[in-house]
Amino acid sequence: MINENMQRLGSKRSVIRELFEYGNARAEAIGRENVFDFSLGNPSVPAPDLVREEIARLLEELPAQTLHGYTSAAGLPEVRAAVAEYINAAFGVPVSADTVYMTCGAAASLTILLHALCEAGDEFVAITPCFPEYKVFVEGAGGVLKEARADEAFHLDLAALEAAITSQTKAVIVNSPNNPTGVVYDEAELTALATLLQNKSAEYGRPIVLIADEPYRELTYGAQVPYPMAYYANTAVCYSFSKSLSLAGERIGYIAIHPDCAQAKELFAAVCGAGRSLGYVCAPALFQRVCAKCLGQSSDVGAYKENRDLLYRTLTEAGFECVLPEGAFYLFMKSPIPDAVKFCELAKKHELLLVPSDTFGIEGYVRISYCVEKDIIVRSLPAFRKLAGETILL
Ligand code: PLP
Repeated sequence: MINENMQRLGSKRSVIRELFEYGNARAEAIGRENVFDFSLGNPSVPAPDLVREEIARLLEELPAQTLHGYTSAAGLPEVRAAVAEYINAAFGVPVSADTVYMTCGAAASLTILLHALCEAGDEFVAITPCFPEYKVFVEGAGGVLKEARADEAFHLDLAALEAAITSQTKAVIVNSPNNPTGVVYDEAELTALATLLQNKSAEYGRPIVLIADEPYRELTYGAQVPYPMAYYANTAVCYSFSKSLSLAGERIGYIAIHPDCAQAKELFAAVCGAGRSLGYVCAPALFQRVCAKCLGQSSDVGAYKENRDLLYRTLTEAGFECVLPEGAFYLFMKSPIPDAVKFCELAKKHELLLVPSDTFGIEGYVRISYCVEKDIIVRSLPAFRKLAGETILL
């Protein structure tokens, strides 16, 4: 009677959610202030003032029917136009409103786009370590996820990518700034990636799409984040306001397709079809309007930077090996023992909740989400030092 695959997915929580629930149980038992939960990527910085101001203005000015009513399936025309104009002005890519589709966040952007693209036998390449839901989303769309490992510094490894691309590859998914490593891909990397995808598309006689998953675009600490569409025409951007504007619970984002993408019109029609078949039409009306006024804005990145600097300095001084995050709000740290799952269990004894990298597709690292109050980081530092003392010499 029940779809077994869905039952399996629903019964087994993700490792990250599991840890989060464990943290809640520990908080009940020993007090929230004694638990150092670095599991979830839930923004800790408030949304920018402009978000609140726009909500207040819209509540005041718009009649309830307009404010809370359905919008067009693909989103409000004026909001799609504002997104297109913003992309034109900020990145110099002439995206038109005709290929912008408003969604319920990056998860919806990705699932809709994957369903729009995927045909029988299609493969999608992701760069590991990567967001664990890519596998769920790709398989849900009927595709196969292929993994290409990033290089030692967690940047693009072109040789690994080339080896992962086959005649069945429909798309490559990139995510920069990256979850879980905080790495930002630079211009040279995107140029090389574009050349590889052009060559491989020519070799196999079918265009390979670049899917740019961009929920962290504005969250950087000085690094420039090149816009993938400016390097490769067969690109679709899956954007979300969840992290940049701290609106994760409001479920709002968009898909934008490059105007020169192969079959751009048909792909957009397929996006509309996938949105319809998945029941994802008409993204939240109030937040479509709010976000149209906040394009390119971000919450206070300075607060995340303070957390990053404090954590990075303390952990490296304690002897841990860490990747200095250039963006997003995750710190990727090498486990001092080969088994990161075991290391995370040892960390739990100090009430430190860290995510083992196995869940992101590689072994031997942990992810620390530092989108928390600074005070939590300050109070967690002795626990990290103790953990270093216990594990670095093991
Ligand atoms: N992609 C990446 C890389 C993420 O880290 C996340 C959320 O953590 C998502 C997509 C999903 O974002 P959203 O909450 O907008 O659906």
